[in-house]
Amino acid sequence: MPVSTVTIPVGQWFTSSDGQRWWFDSGSFALDFAYTGPMGQGSPGVEQLHSPDDLTSWIASRFPMPVGAARTRDLFDAVGLRDAIARLAHAASAGEPLRSDDVDTVNLFAATPDIPPVLGGGARRAGRSVQSVGQALATIAREAVDLFSPENLERVRCCSAEDCGIVYLDTSRAATRRWCSMQRCGNRAKVRAHRARKSGAGRSRLAAAAAAAAASAPVASSVVAATITVPATASPAAPAPAGSDAAGAASPHPDESAA
Ligand SMILES: [Zn+2]
Repeated sequence: MPVSTVTIPVGQWFTSSDGQRWWFDSGSFALDFAYTGPMGQGSPGVEQLHSPDDLTSWIASRFPMPVGAARTRDLFDAVGLRDAIARLAHAASAGEPLRSDDVDTVNLFAATPDIPPVLGGGARRAGRSVQSVGQALATIAREAVDLFSPENLERVRCCSAEDCGIVYLDTSRAATRRWCSMQRCGNRAKVRAHRARKSGAGRSRLAAAAAAAAASAPVASSVVAATITVPATASPAAPAPAGSDAAGAASPHPDESAA
């Protein structure tokens, strides 16, 4: 149950170092906010908040209601909150305890007034027409409270690809999301699994041909059959890393496919 009172769209486009552009659904806009800065190993996140104007632009691109311009103090606050969320996300994804000072930072911002919900159809405006950056940060912090709550903590995960450090909240019904994105790491795993299956099938065909040759010409082919049959029996264990990917790729979860 989200504790922020307004709905902010989740997800953003990332561009990998090889130029590939891909959609990343982090599962939480508090995590999206964390990715405005470096999120650690393998993460595509780089510092985006160099100035108050950068913060103003990011908030304007995410919040569906008017929010005022950020000042230097707002930027300082935002980076502090963001870095605390990033550290908590990494700790949660690694199954490590959450640092109390990071929890305190999130709670501090969550305790301030957030952006209130609005029911359409009224004749008069209630409250401010333009929300403050502080309210936007409180809204993000309340989302972070939900993100790291006991109900969600085990769903904060790191992508299954060994060379990917991206953290997300698994919002799939069965909690079976494995990848940051099917477009990116999910597809790479499928390709590796496909290659592993093909090479395994090739070795099996070679072994079968050798066995057939041995049967038709037992004296001349016995040495060949023996030398080829031995690696063929060992082949299922050979592509061990890709084999584990094959299991996942053979039955991708519907939620991941849609990502
Ligand atoms: Zn990944």
